[in-house]
Amino acid sequence: MSRILTLSSGGRLKITDTAWVKMVSLRQDTLRKKEAGGLLLGRQILESDDLVIDDVSTPVRGDTRARMRFVRSKRHQRFVDEAWAKSNGTRVYLGEWHTHPEGVPSPSSEDLRSWRKHLSDKQIHGEALFFVIVGVDAVRVWEGFRFQRSVNLIGEVCLHGQESD
Ligand SMILES: [Zn+2]
Repeated sequence: MSRILTLSSGGRLKITDTAWVKMVSLRQDTLRKKEAGGLLLGRQILESDDLVIDDVSTPVRGDTRARMRFVRSKRHQRFVDEAWAKSNGTRVYLGEWHTHPEGVPSPSSEDLRSWRKHLSDKQIHGEALFFVIVGVDAVRVWEGFRFQRSVNLIGEVCLHGQESD
């Protein structure tokens, strides 16, 4: 089991326990659970191509949540703004995550459209954003490139046998 993924730059992307547990605890492992999601927050490791996702926002009032739909409200932005201010600008928005009620998740056409929209946002930091989908059996991570507006799957982590982590 590894939460360290290799980026197209050759650098590494690490997802910390804090961020991981928040996302995975919201997975849709029963029929009644609705989609959840939020923003990815993290930092670049100085003088390297390595990145760490060290926290995520989780659903708030105002989000649209259904069994197969999640649209986050603008309130999540406050989480990024506060982290940025408290860290003197070192912790930044790194992307988006949400859950899917399927074993090994794949992005819907709506997800791809929304990811491309985020990639075209001129306010983002850096050249890439990350998109995480938490399925029932696995978490998959995509790296999206701002200039090409393309996304590549960079990793898949199986969720079985991790309960004691
Ligand atoms: Zn989706």
